[in-house]
Amino acid sequence: MGGGAVATRKARLLLRAGATLTVVSPEISRELQAMLGEHNGVWQRGRYQESDLHSAHLVVAATPDTSVNEQVYNDATRQSKLVNVVDAPHLCTFIFPSIVDRDPLLIAISSSGTSPVLTRILRRKIEAMVPAAYGRLASFAGRFRQLVKDKIPSEGPRRLFWEQTLEGTIAEQVLAGREEEAERQLHARLGDTEALHSGEVYLVGAGPGDPDLLTFKAARLLQSADVVLYDRLVSAAIVDMARRDAERIYVGKRRADHSVPQTEINQLLVDLAQQGKRVVRLKGGDPFVFGRGGEEIELLAKHRIPFQVVPGITAANGAACYAGIPLTHRDHAQSVRFVAGYLKNDTVEHDWTSFQSTTETLVFYMGLLGLPVICAQLQAHGRSPDTPVALVERGTTLEQKVLVGTLANMEEKVAQAQPAAPTLIIIGDVVRLHESLSWFGQAATE
Ligand code: SAH
Repeated sequence: MGGGAVATRKARLLLRAGATLTVVSPEISRELQAMLGEHNGVWQRGRYQESDLHSAHLVVAATPDTSVNEQVYNDATRQSKLVNVVDAPHLCTFIFPSIVDRDPLLIAISSSGTSPVLTRILRRKIEAMVPAAYGRLASFAGRFRQLVKDKIPSEGPRRLFWEQTLEGTIAEQVLAGREEEAERQLHARLGDTEALHSGEVYLVGAGPGDPDLLTFKAARLLQSADVVLYDRLVSAAIVDMARRDAERIYVGKRRADHSVPQTEINQLLVDLAQQGKRVVRLKGGDPFVFGRGGEEIELLAKHRIPFQVVPGITAANGAACYAGIPLTHRDHAQSVRFVAGYLKNDTVEHDWTSFQSTTETLVFYMGLLGLPVICAQLQAHGRSPDTPVALVERGTTLEQKVLVGTLANMEEKVAQAQPAAPTLIIIGDVVRLHESLSWFGQAATE
């Protein structure tokens, strides 16, 4: 309804979308008349009547007369027709969103009638962000959709195939206008059946606790995974970053109570990948620092399953930074050593004579139970009883606590404080800096 400038604008959009158009109006613009002629549209000359709506699917009221527009709205809703009254969001059962047209790719933006200017600004940004050639990429993908579906019937591997295709070199070829080369590469990839049906495993370091310490790569892979295996050290906030429909498998370990034995985890990774799944194995901290990451990929390599290892911030780095304890320092420590502190046969097995240097910072992982042995051995092998010791509990999380003492009195302090796992022990002169450099403040420090 209507034949002026507004009606002409809407008509142009509708015709471009393939609509068959009837315009009801006593007069219409010359442009509209021409458009109708070109697209076999009809101009029904005259004033609006309810019966005009009978053959319509979609109704647009664009007359200058608000009472007519309102009448159109009432009639159309009574007849259960979709209706849009221009510039009256409350009289619309459908809207014309602002669009970015990369045919066949179409991006629609709407502010639900609140701010057309905002949608236009947003549209400009998206226009700039989405290359014009993306339409070509969409057509290219469309051409091979069925073929790929036939070749890769299961959904997981097929999604992986398309993600790699649309973000990889094949897409680059299409965007550069070399479709023949792109097609050749696509057929080559589809021919490599073994690669197509195998999944992939990513061994991902999740950092020491604070989700913000995840790497970009870890976050991206987490978003793409079909299955996520995680253990006790990985915080819930990080597991939550996985795709909503991704399967989550807890394979947590506790001291002496291994919920899922390591060999089973290794095998599980192989099995899932062989089902064509994309598996993220999340490990606390860094996968290659006391993480048994090496064992997990050994079996993958043996089965020729593609894998990647993504480094993470290890507990020593995270806890030391958040506790204000520099691991090295020009004046106090020229080296740092990461040491396993767990008990084996009731003792911590090391060549203790090699820990004598006063300019080396020692970081013990898994050392809470072994702490009395560690402190005693270091003193027995020449370290001064005054050597400062820090125990960082749940480092980098909001619950982080730092307990400071010396080799001589740490056992007693820990017995009193009863810290909760996981805890990290840092030993050396750098611990003295904690008081002045800690931004966690006194409250967190006992
Ligand atoms: N791959 C991990 C270490 C796994 S071993 C990493 O790179 O950090 C498990 C030990 O790490 C725990 O016993 C504890 O000593 C230490 N740890 C892990 N996260 C910690 C945290 N948030 N705070 C203190 N210690 C932590």
